[in-house]
Amino acid sequence: MSFVEEARWFQAPPAQDPSAPVAPGHVTLVGAGPGDPELLTVRALRALQGARMVLYDHLVSREVLQYVDPAAELVYVGKQSSQHTLPQESIIDLMLRLARSGRSLVRLKGGDCFIFGRGGEEVLALAEHGIPYDVVPGITAAQAAGACAGIALTHREHAGTLVLATGHLCGRDEVALDWQALARPRQTLVIYMGIATLALICRELQAHGLPGGTPAALVERASLAQQRCVTGTLAGLPALAQQHDVRAPALIVIGEVVALQPQILRGMAVPAQAG
Ligand code: SAH
Repeated sequence: MSFVEEARWFQAPPAQDPSAPVAPGHVTLVGAGPGDPELLTVRALRALQGARMVLYDHLVSREVLQYVDPAAELVYVGKQSSQHTLPQESIIDLMLRLARSGRSLVRLKGGDCFIFGRGGEEVLALAEHGIPYDVVPGITAAQAAGACAGIALTHREHAGTLVLATGHLCGRDEVALDWQALARPRQTLVIYMGIATLALICRELQAHGLPGGTPAALVERASLAQQRCVTGTLAGLPALAQQHDVRAPALIVIGEVVALQPQILRGMAVPAQAG
């Protein structure tokens, strides 16, 4: 497997001789799922095995990358919330340059590309520049956290709505989450990228009417061998996170459905996990 260093792919093929136009390559956006390669779709697996070049993000697990053809070029384009290996615009620019030079590639992203994955921005850019593409869905982290941690996200006696929200920018003035909507009863709320702003999230939800005693969980590295889940109440969640040193990638799950977890886990055989 050849790992391509950033520096090298910044020297991506220059524009070809304009007198010899090249047909653009095809870009396949693939959702890699939450980490356990067993949770790749068959289509995603085929795309990985057939790819000659793969641009992948921070959240794509090592276990998943093992399914890429060893002869393919693997390009890490990073992206941790605080530490962007490449800004999003540069990732898009690189993809466009490679495709325009005739290279077909797989753009591999954690979970599902269109759920907090900025896949929307990437396909819009491809569409605008006439680059052919397709999108392979992936299992999003919320689904994995539900199934792997024993949280029935929409158990109908407890939740009629499932909301996926991002906590990424919620501490900044320019992005105000609709706290009123997030604090509704009979709803399960799953918050992505919320660990850094957990205290603020819990405070705002309570200020907007969600009882502090609402069952809540933090699910770290869902589906992987290192998966951890801690449960408590909305009010107690920040202390719990500190006590257990919960770190990204992790989800916050809030709602009455969390209270069913012990019953659900009791009957669940230990799942085979990625190794
Ligand atoms: N497109 C991805 C989400 C990307 S945003 C998806 O559909 O899952 C990144 C955030 O997703 C992380 O900060 C974390 O909140 C969540 N996340 C991704 N993988 C996760 C995992 N295995 N376990 C828990 N949370 C995860």
